[in-house]
Amino acid sequence: MNNIASTDTLRYDGKVVVVTGAGGGLGKAYALFFASRGASVVVNDLGGSFKGEGNSTRAADVVVEEIKKAGGKAVPNYDSVEFGDRIIETAVKAFGTVHILINNAGILRDVAFRNMKDADWDLIQNVHVKGTYKCTKAAWPIFRRQKYGRIINTASAAGLFGTFGQTNYSAAKLSVVAFSEVLAKEGAKYNILVNAIAPIAASRMTETVMPAEVLATLGPEWVVPLVAVLVHDSNTQESGGIYEVGAGTVSKIRWERSKGALYKTDASLTPSAISQKWAVVHDFSNPDHPTGPADFMGLLEAAGEMPSNEQ
Ligand code: NAD
Repeated sequence: MNNIASTDTLRYDGKVVVVTGAGGGLGKAYALFFASRGASVVVNDLGGSFKGEGNSTRAADVVVEEIKKAGGKAVPNYDSVEFGDRIIETAVKAFGTVHILINNAGILRDVAFRNMKDADWDLIQNVHVKGTYKCTKAAWPIFRRQKYGRIINTASAAGLFGTFGQTNYSAAKLSVVAFSEVLAKEGAKYNILVNAIAPIAASRMTETVMPAEVLATLGPEWVVPLVAVLVHDSNTQESGGIYEVGAGTVSKIRWERSKGALYKTDASLTPSAISQKWAVVHDFSNPDHPTGPADFMGLLEAAGEMPSNEQ
């Protein structure tokens, strides 16, 4: 499929991969890759515009044809991810099960918050959050039963950091991260690994907001190798990760918490006590990196061991 694919040997023979939104952009790159490496692929795509208008069977059909022409195995599915159970049903009917789910389908409805309509909010939540939920919900019992599942959920830097004009999209994309974090924990004992990526790639989604010379460095194929590694059998542990990937860079994101200020929980904990230690609250020179709500208890324990701080 591309020069990355020819330089290593990871294979997915016998694996059934569902890729949502696989009619173009990143999804198409994943579908072509997995099919070229022996997997049976469900190519899902609603076939609408990048704003989520309309639908067509063509987007999925073209990719299925390309896979078949190259000797691969693929079937199309044209449902919206909001009906994810039908997509998983397609996989089960055609190939008997599903092993790998790439929740990738997405749209944009960018608008400054003051002008945002409920419809702009609802559609984005439905496609990104509910769509990711519905596909995963349908695959989950199968993954548990077979004690094997690999999920990639597609977040965005917009969700991690917030982007002007994208309150709907950013909120949805950070939801996808939280969803992944919980499922990584719930799936661990069933060999279900769940990771989230925040990709950057040239696609119809980005072609209107980035200059051509930047887009030229952002081939979707540069996102594929990380996804390939995360969902491969050889990954037996990495779960709950959040990665930024694209344009030849791959990095991991984590939460960072300042050591924080300590106060006595009595009348001395006043607004002015907060103000007095404002710099301490914001001091990241000696941070920790929490991975669960229980880590907060560690903070409290540490506080208990500390000598009572001055007022
Ligand atoms: P794209 O528009 O090329 O691909 C998205 C695909 O999803 C399209 O083929 C579209 O028809 C399909 N789709 C949309 N709504 C659907 C639905 N309800 N059901 C099924 N299919 C549907 O865009 P892309 O850039 O390849 O985006 C892929 C994913 O990556 C999206 O989730 C997007 O939010 C995310 N993302 C992309 C970038 C980037 O730089 N391209 C950055 C951050 C996040």
